[in-house]
Amino acid sequence: MIRLETLHNICLIWSLIGVGSFILLQFVRAPYGRYIRKGWGPEIPNYIGWILMELPSFLIIFYFYYFYIQSTYASMLSLLWLLHYFNRTFIYPFRIRTKKKKMPLTIVLSAIGFNFMNAGLNGYFLAFFDRYNVANFESWNFYAGLVLFILGLIVNQVSDHLLINLRKPEERGYKIPQGFLFNYISCPNYLGEIVQWIGFALMAWNFPALTFLIWTAANLLPRVSGHHQWYQDHFKDYPKNRKALIPRIW
Ligand code: NDP
Repeated sequence: MIRLETLHNICLIWSLIGVGSFILLQFVRAPYGRYIRKGWGPEIPNYIGWILMELPSFLIIFYFYYFYIQSTYASMLSLLWLLHYFNRTFIYPFRIRTKKKKMPLTIVLSAIGFNFMNAGLNGYFLAFFDRYNVANFESWNFYAGLVLFILGLIVNQVSDHLLINLRKPEERGYKIPQGFLFNYISCPNYLGEIVQWIGFALMAWNFPALTFLIWTAANLLPRVSGHHQWYQDHFKDYPKNRKALIPRIW
């Protein structure tokens, strides 16, 4: 059993590594999806990569939820996490139209490490440092966080759905996404994901949830700039007024 202070120190170090990863990702595009390229070692089918990457996040929180988590509030947080990762692990990989595409094992292994740490820290905290009680359900951060989590989830799901359906089942290329928040920004799926985990961090109000938010932003913000630039480079008719992540601003 580790002490709370130790858990916080691990979160601090892990968050700093997340910031380091953010800086690194400014120079190196994570080689999956449109940035896949040779030189990153053996590759496996894309959808198997997604299942393997996301599975630890589902299983670890499920383990803590099933065996240790006590309070209703911590259970609610675990169930929201499991809802997200059930989709990401068991549904999303079978919906994407990338059947003949591959991803490097390096990406899969690094994402497994990322998910192992983040789910481990969050699950451990909810299991062994659970100080939540019914009053938490009346706090401002619960209401604000739940609204943001649900809004983010909807934006992420709708945007991923639109992106997936840009291709016919056997197509492999890229098109300009249209409709919904794509009319304003290039990456509403990432916006939704970030808002969702801001909501989770508000509800959870603990260091591990903040750490996961830092890592999510560290992964996704460089990808936002990459995608936005990529669209502008590849499509001459890409809408000029479309921003990257925040309508009218960035
Ligand atoms: P992308 O937006 O790069 O791709 C999503 C899917 O849509 C892929 O199957 C992609 O195909 C396809 N696609 C995207 N753009 C187009 C287009 N213009 N034309 C045709 N097809 C397109 O998202 P990611 O793959 O990076 O991420 C998927 C999900 O995982 C997102 O919801 C994201 O928020 C989440 N995620 C969360 C992270 C976290 O740290 N919490 C980290 C990374 C992702 P292809 O693969 O061939 O490009």
